Amino acid sequence: MFPEIERVLIDEARIRARVHDMGAQIARDLTADIARSGMSADGQIVLVPILTGSIVFVADLVRQMPLKLRLGVVAVSSYPGQSMQSKGAALRGEIPRDLGGKHVLIVDDILDSGRTLGLIRRLIEEQSPASCRTCVLLTKAVPRAEPVVADYSGFDIPDAFVVGYGLDYDGYYRNLPHIAILKGHAVKGVHP
Ligand code: 5GP
Ligand code: MG
Repeated sequence: MFPEIERVLIDEARIRARVHDMGAQIARDLTADIARSGMSADGQIVLVPILTGSIVFVADLVRQMPLKLRLGVVAVSSYPGQSMQSKGAALRGEIPRDLGGKHVLIVDDILDSGRTLGLIRRLIEEQSPASCRTCVLLTKAVPRAEPVVADYSGFDIPDAFVVGYGLDYDGYYRNLPHIAILKGHAVKGVHP
């Protein structure tokens, strides 16, 4: 699709199959939570996608979850502009305010240092939700700066900078249907 792509790490068919299974698993777990609480599912389930990287993943994931749920997006920036090194997670804008007593699922594209999920989970737990789980498409094999383990993770990947399926470099490549690694020259002058 783009000549700057070095290689495809996870192709479209593998992503589709895995997201299908994750959606089914998460829906089963949330349904069991709701059944235990004895309450109706109405208004109980809130997915919190982290912008912008999770948009493609969450769009596919929710369509595999036959549940009554709401979305409450949050925006976090950690890789401003042409950066390939996290500058630390910073909340941009508001966090949904009505999560007390709800079953919350935080959704992000990738777990790397753990700072993003750690930050959002802390902010949500302050509101005392009934449950708060985390879900990522990718988990990178690196030491975590924060001790976060995702409750649901699609794929383990090696320590490489990846793009596609929502993940960007300098705002581009989010529309790739697969997870890929860029050629060195595409990011030249950025890597020291
Ligand atoms: P963490 O806060 O866990 O270090 O990183 C999570 C965020 O950093 C993700 O939401 C994502 O935006 C970004 N990120 C981490 N690793 C990568 C990567 O390999 N490629 C891209 N495009 N973004 C990444
Ligand atoms: Mg992100």
